Amino acid sequence: MTRDVWLARHPYLQPLADVDTLVEAAAAAITVPIAPIPDFERYSADFHAGVPLLESAAAAFDFDSAEPAVHSLIRRLASASLPEPLATSCRDLAAELETELETELETADSTAPAHPGLLRYLGWVILVRSLAPVVSAFDVWRNDEGWLRNYCPACGEPPAMCQLVGKDPGRLRKLSCGRCRTRWRYRRTGCPFCETKDAHRLAALSVDGEEGLRIDYCDVCSGYLKTYDGEGSESVLLADWTSLHLDMIARERGLKRLASSLYELDAH
Ligand SMILES: [Zn+2]
Ligand SMILES: [Zn+2]
Repeated sequence: MTRDVWLARHPYLQPLADVDTLVEAAAAAITVPIAPIPDFERYSADFHAGVPLLESAAAAFDFDSAEPAVHSLIRRLASASLPEPLATSCRDLAAELETELETELETADSTAPAHPGLLRYLGWVILVRSLAPVVSAFDVWRNDEGWLRNYCPACGEPPAMCQLVGKDPGRLRKLSCGRCRTRWRYRRTGCPFCETKDAHRLAALSVDGEEGLRIDYCDVCSGYLKTYDGEGSESVLLADWTSLHLDMIARERGLKRLASSLYELDAH
């Protein structure tokens, strides 16, 4: 499945695709510092204790180094032609940056940003670039059977989506992080939110015309997870925004999005 084919079948996603293209192009024009590969052996004990890599003191990851790149992205987007209300929100963030720089020397107080959801999204557009080599090296080093937890082994976020990989009997269920894009193994059955193991309380809802995608949900906590049943189209089908219509279907059924999302841009 390519992005163009998917968009031709789901024309209502085009405005989102346009924003995604614009933001990615702006990010591509910025120099992003590449995070150094941490010493995985030093981190190993934390891994087995369930501490995500980026939260581990042993990995000593420096989030601040990506901050100037995030600021550059905000400034670039503030002068780009974006649809509303995104354009105004980006200009608000850029204006806030200027005030912050002016007041930084006078006060140690930092106030909450005007658009925390948008700031988080833009922050991760940069961080995912900065962290890409670390995430790849971590995939190689990590023994997935030693994790099987319901949060990302790299950044600690709950899953955004799920993927079924391979054929039975060796089929694997992988959870997918919407922030750093790590995919990690989870138990084949069981709810990743309330962690019930009762298979009778879990169900899958297929959606007409959406081969490859379905909604898995749990009767105990009403949480659902959009699931890509297949391989090869991860960049399209696990992007989260490309299946926004499935979130609407799930919500109409009274299900709750307990999965994490980077696309709640106006969340406060
Ligand atoms: Zn992650
Ligand atoms: Zn549940």
